Amino acid sequence: MMGPAHSLSGAAAWLGVGAAAAAFDKPMPWPVLLVGALICAGAALAPDLDHKSATISRAFGPVSRGLCEVVDKLSYAVYKATRSSADPRRSGGHRTLTHTWLWAVLIGAGASAAAVTGGRWAVLAILFVHLVLAVEGLLWRAARMSSDVLVWLLGATSAWILAGVLDKPGNGADWFFTGPGQEYLWLGLPIVLGALVHDIGDALTVSGCPVLWPIPVGRKRWYPIGPPKGMRFRAGSWVELKVLMPAFMVLGGVGGASALGFF
Ligand SMILES: [Zn+2]
Repeated sequence: MMGPAHSLSGAAAWLGVGAAAAAFDKPMPWPVLLVGALICAGAALAPDLDHKSATISRAFGPVSRGLCEVVDKLSYAVYKATRSSADPRRSGGHRTLTHTWLWAVLIGAGASAAAVTGGRWAVLAILFVHLVLAVEGLLWRAARMSSDVLVWLLGATSAWILAGVLDKPGNGADWFFTGPGQEYLWLGLPIVLGALVHDIGDALTVSGCPVLWPIPVGRKRWYPIGPPKGMRFRAGSWVELKVLMPAFMVLGGVGGASALGFF
């Protein structure tokens, strides 16, 4: 899928988690619902950091371009080192290491650890990165037409404001993990979810996605998971734009409304 569909599916997924959390007696205060949906929308772009023309690789100028090169090389090296004789040869790292459950968990755990140990600036940094990505993904056209610097400013100011809102008692810095010193531990959850939703979105497309690595499927270690061939679509096709994206909006709306207790 393309960036906007990935981001919308990420936001919808977090709003769905909000609905489930309300049903299981762990209701999210509205700032957690909102910030989590935005983080998840941003995190749903992150696995494509292995592709130089992806939104995330262009979102932070030379920093993300450099990181993209490193991630692509690392992914390719891991692929070559771990592929079985049944896995095909490839020429680059796109849709390998960063498109696995293990990567999703490591990135999310890393963010949680940083948020808990790094204090306010770590929380602000995590918010900033994901809010910039969320703007790029959700407001794709508007972000394309404005300058990168404006998008960064928007990300930085909204990170500052939202961190201030979350910090107020009862607004959810300690949502889900309520022990002392566990404030913002939950920030990793929308990050894991966003990456997984991205992988599922890619799995629906023609080439599939090796989500399960390093768990082998048959003789392949990088088995491209996906539905039967006839049910797959091309990235950016009408199915994605006219069926999936409106569906994500409706599902997200329903999830959000029920998370806030409207029904
Ligand atoms: Zn992808």
